[in-house]
Amino acid sequence: MRKTYNFSAGPAVLPEEVLEQAREEMLDWHGSGMSVMEMSHRGKEFMSIMDKTESTLRELADIPAGYKILFLQGGALSQFAMVPMNLLGESGKADYVQTGQWSEKAINEAARYGSVHIAASSESDGFNSAPPLAQWKISPGTAYVHYTTNETIGGVEFQWIPDLSAIAGSDKTIPLVADMSSNFLSRPFDVSKFGLIYAGAQKNVGPAGLVLVIIREDLLDVAPLSGTPTMYRYKTYADNASMYNTPPTYAIYIMGLVMEWLKKQGGLAAIEQRNIAKARLIYDLIDASSFYHCPVNRADRSRMNIPFTLSDSSLDEVFLKQAQTHGLLQLKGHRSVGGMRASIYNAMPLEGVQALAAFMQEFERNHA
Ligand code: PMP
Repeated sequence: MRKTYNFSAGPAVLPEEVLEQAREEMLDWHGSGMSVMEMSHRGKEFMSIMDKTESTLRELADIPAGYKILFLQGGALSQFAMVPMNLLGESGKADYVQTGQWSEKAINEAARYGSVHIAASSESDGFNSAPPLAQWKISPGTAYVHYTTNETIGGVEFQWIPDLSAIAGSDKTIPLVADMSSNFLSRPFDVSKFGLIYAGAQKNVGPAGLVLVIIREDLLDVAPLSGTPTMYRYKTYADNASMYNTPPTYAIYIMGLVMEWLKKQGGLAAIEQRNIAKARLIYDLIDASSFYHCPVNRADRSRMNIPFTLSDSSLDEVFLKQAQTHGLLQLKGHRSVGGMRASIYNAMPLEGVQALAAFMQEFERNHA
């Protein structure tokens, strides 16, 4: 048993059971005489790992027929380019919702390939909320609408899935595209509401180096922009079962173990209840205190990433040092915003959040 709790925003904590199983299987996977790292990606052993990983994800997230699951590399940042390159099509236009640093990066990248319209923005309130659907304005002829379901740095999470058909004047067939990197599989979500979902693995899914894409099959027929490299075309992955080149085999294996672990936890509905309870512990403590502060609009607060500041920022270093001696690791806020950030993904046990809450209360008593 580890004696530490890791609050990193990603790469992030993995379930201890998963790491133990990986250790047990490190030298010899299931009597194959090989480590998973040493297997040919086209051999029957690895193919069985990949098939099982995919089918368990499909079962857990209830991914309907008509959607393909693709295993890619290049981080979610590559998706900021792949999405427009593959989906802009003839219109060359896309709508983006601007809610913080990650959506802004996606917007800036998309603007390299086409004309980007900001459908809604929370800039006026310092990116501390999720713009309500009533404020969204979709431009005519747009190829898709992109939003970030959870802003990992700002700690703003959409608690609802936008229904584009409810927006006046919008065409209800417009594909909704979501960057779900930092709240993927943290709650049930209706895949049929989306055209494309992508997520970097290193938060709720497994190690860095793997990106998941769930794409509605009709979108594979949109012609990519001319000059789109083979490895930047979704169809390359769809037509080759994500094995056009060598996939990140070990990351896929660990993802498979995490999927099995999630199933054992009771699936997404059960993990959601645990995530709600964990987040509430910290937010309630912050709201009851004048020593800690979280700037995010209450209704839009992230269950995954909790940014907070101390009333006296000169105590930041002491807070982090003492947290570390209590075994509470990587609580430093993103370098662009400072303060603290507690990331409490699926694999963070309730005991870890309780330990953080107890430490925060003790620190407040000693320093307020
Ligand atoms: N989108 C979101 C919401 C993220 O949190 C991150 C990484 N923290 C990224 C995109 C970029 O992911 P990567 O580093 O895997 O490219």
